[in-house]
Amino acid sequence: MNDSRLPITDDHMHLNPGRGRGIEAIKEFRNAGGTHVLIVSLPADEYGMTIRSAQDYYVLYDRTIDTVRQANEYVHAYGVIGVHPAEFIGLAGSMGIEPAYAVVREGLEIAAKYVAEGKAIALKSGRPHYPVSPELWERSNRLMRYAMDLCVDQDCALQLHTESEPGTFASISAIAREQNLPPWRTIKHFSPPAVRECESLNVFPSVIAGKGALEQALSEGTRFMLETDYCDDPVRPGAVLGPKTVPRKTKEAIRNGVPEEVFYKIHKENPEKCYGIKIDL
Ligand SMILES: [Zn+2]
Repeated sequence: MNDSRLPITDDHMHLNPGRGRGIEAIKEFRNAGGTHVLIVSLPADEYGMTIRSAQDYYVLYDRTIDTVRQANEYVHAYGVIGVHPAEFIGLAGSMGIEPAYAVVREGLEIAAKYVAEGKAIALKSGRPHYPVSPELWERSNRLMRYAMDLCVDQDCALQLHTESEPGTFASISAIAREQNLPPWRTIKHFSPPAVRECESLNVFPSVIAGKGALEQALSEGTRFMLETDYCDDPVRPGAVLGPKTVPRKTKEAIRNGVPEEVFYKIHKENPEKCYGIKIDL
């Protein structure tokens, strides 16, 4: 097995052509050895959009899917779409909790429709990672449960943006079970390298590839994916990891003696199982 035949997958990246580097970031990812990428929809304001009704989500998701199409000219790219939990909180502030709840619910339904049409492979939902009122917390959890119901219907995975507190994984796992979504279809985005805990709870960690995280994750097993959460935001260039990070850290680990087989699990077998896709070169 040689290095060049190894798929390298970034499980969570954003592209914002026009504002950020767009497809240039994908070229950089590819040139570093990246082969597969999941491109996740951004909150509306990042695209310079305002959500006034659920219909606006068609426009928002189309932007994401268009970047997926463009990225596919360089790598294997897949769309993950849905409503960022912070967007619900923002909309609740501007239009009121009830109307915001209805809009986001429908926004998630539209995302599920895109999955049904094969335009995207998974949904995105979650709950705020910062303190909110009990009412907003309850509604956010209801929206996350609804996203899980939609994923059960579509037989697809769900990327979750949540808090990372002690007990978060157990909570997500319990909620997924209650909604009949297999917890391994429930992917904790921006995850700490808590590979063993996730394995015991059956949820899937998408480990943010920051300093020391890959090493820590590998010390606990191979049941995880890797992501940069590259946000393609020119205003916050240092806020997240760059597009080269996952391929660079993968190659570095192999050079340092981690068997390539380990990365077949992380970059190919794990995403194939979670998302029901085929990762081939
Ligand atoms: Zn993200």
